[in-house]
Amino acid sequence: MKVSIIGAGYVGLVTAACLSEKGNDVKVYDISKDKINRLSKGKMTIHEPGLEGLVKTNLAESRLRFTTELGQSLDDSEVIFLAVGTPPSGDGSADLTFLYKAAESIKNELITNPMKKPVVVATKSTVPPKTGQYIKGIFGGLNDKIFYASVPEFLAEGTAVENFMHPNRIVVGVDSDYAKSVLKDLFRPFTAGGAQLFSCDIETAELSKYASNYLLASRISAMNELARISGAFGADIGMIRKIVGSDERIGSKFLFPGIGYGGSCFPKDVKALQSIAKSGGIDAIIAKAIDEVNENQPLYFANLVANLFNDERYGLKDITIGMWGLSFKNGSDDMRESRALVVLKELLRKGAKVRVYDPIAMKMGTAQPAVRNVVQELGLNENMVIFAEGIYDAITPAYGLVICTDHDAFKSPDFERIKSLMCAPLIVDGRNLYEPEKMEKKGFRYFSIGRK
Ligand code: NAD
Repeated sequence: MKVSIIGAGYVGLVTAACLSEKGNDVKVYDISKDKINRLSKGKMTIHEPGLEGLVKTNLAESRLRFTTELGQSLDDSEVIFLAVGTPPSGDGSADLTFLYKAAESIKNELITNPMKKPVVVATKSTVPPKTGQYIKGIFGGLNDKIFYASVPEFLAEGTAVENFMHPNRIVVGVDSDYAKSVLKDLFRPFTAGGAQLFSCDIETAELSKYASNYLLASRISAMNELARISGAFGADIGMIRKIVGSDERIGSKFLFPGIGYGGSCFPKDVKALQSIAKSGGIDAIIAKAIDEVNENQPLYFANLVANLFNDERYGLKDITIGMWGLSFKNGSDDMRESRALVVLKELLRKGAKVRVYDPIAMKMGTAQPAVRNVVQELGLNENMVIFAEGIYDAITPAYGLVICTDHDAFKSPDFERIKSLMCAPLIVDGRNLYEPEKMEKKGFRYFSIGRK
């Protein structure tokens, strides 16, 4: 099938790579010339396991093309996916400016160069219910040629290719048999592999994405709240997680306490859901609480770090802390809403110098500008944060170590080496990567979230 994708970000690029891998002819359009230039040469703009191979193979096979010419991308397309960003506005609602601009451009292009066949325009971006109706309004005069659909994306960064290739569900919100039938065909290679396809109305599809992120985020905030209660009573949240997770009604996934959820989806979508609810006359009190716990969690962690270092050193001023992890999660370079940045900001505010290392975000170049923003916001000298060259360089020298991201590279380090490099054998772990008892035996003063 001929597919056009508008927006070459995390969702657009993964969608393009995976659909071309299934034999579709995919053209990707983005307003960022730099992104399109790099992608056209097979150079990665984001880090996702398995993505580079798919992009290079399908570029070589000419099933995947990148362009800054909208007309070229739309030419003969049977399906156009909108995958542009929907960032939060100042009041927490979803900012749909990029999406509406993209829809306007498509409409203008289709008026100038009318299509021979009808086309399905499907929104993959996360949007509030009724956005589809508004976009249909934009396409007003082209109703006989354009069939609208909402196809929300459920991939998770860090496992995006795997999630797209082997989804457990595909949601298709439609109000026409034409769109339903075309999308069913497009996704057949995935449904044949076992994915469930839910076909529903447009508003249900739109809201289903928020519902999913709201419930996932609620598990994280609930576990973080429980972890703090657990910590206050000397109980072990790790064991509690296993106990409650063994109840089939609860299930064991997505119950890991830490420094809170970040990234480009959960924080903005939980906030946007509150705004959606408000516009429907509903006070979303649970969504508010999920958000509040999440905003507090990295501050709680930074205070824990400060108290532990304070106990030993009488203050953070002028001491150097080693910090592992900047991106919001394992396997991703995405710095958007990363809780590690909140922790970093608090430690800097309290006077510490920080040596940071992130194996993925620093390599992809996303970490450096985000960290510099934090330093500038605080009005500090740039040398208060040093970008280290590896996990051991981050603690050479350092008084102790703070862990903020659960990257694989941090999971089995050489502990003897760590001890020999740091002034104190102190590790404060915001991701509960190691076993407290084993760490004690190794001679560390090891602190994590909600465990002894
Ligand atoms: P992103 O910021 O990584 O990418 C968006 C891209 O759209 C950018 O490359 C930008 O240059 C481009 N763009 C903006 N306006 C454009 C226009 N008029 N025409 C063409 N290109 C344009 O965003 P993302 O993370 O891929 O998210 C996209 C949407 O998908 C959001 O609504 C998000 O909530 C949703 N989503 C994201 C994820 C995720 O894990 N990142 C998962 C599921 C859903």
